Amino acid sequence: MTAGCEDVLEAVLLGRTLGADAARHVAACPRCTADAPVLRAVATALAAPPEPSPGAGARIAAAAAPVLARLRRRALARAIVVALLPLPLIVLIDAWAVRALGGLLAGVLPDALATYLVYHWTAALALWLGLATAAVPLLAERQLRGREGCLR
Ligand SMILES: [Zn+2]
Repeated sequence: MTAGCEDVLEAVLLGRTLGADAARHVAACPRCTADAPVLRAVATALAAPPEPSPGAGARIAAAAAPVLARLRRRALARAIVVALLPLPLIVLIDAWAVRALGGLLAGVLPDALATYLVYHWTAALALWLGLATAAVPLLAERQLRGREGCLR
């Protein structure tokens, strides 16, 4: 089988030993004569990649830190917006539930007791809603930290 330029150069690049046919082709072909030494050097470099210099990881991390921080802020803002999106609907449902409870209790209980229970329930709902809303940034930050921990 006669060796073509592509076959010979591929064999050189992959570090294979050339057969007699291929060696004759390299000696006779101007393209292969010029390219074979370069490809041999590439094959040698690929076979034993250089060791990274000491501190390269720290330098790369320092160079990437501003970009990573910006991406982190964006992801945090996105997570907070997504988490707070249903808040108006929750407030509307709570207001509707408070009004319904107030109407129900007003028909059964004395006015003072019904009003007290409605205010108490409203305060409890406001407290829980406030705590849940305040926890959103903390939970989003924690979720991002957990995700970044998985990537390391
Ligand atoms: Zn050739």
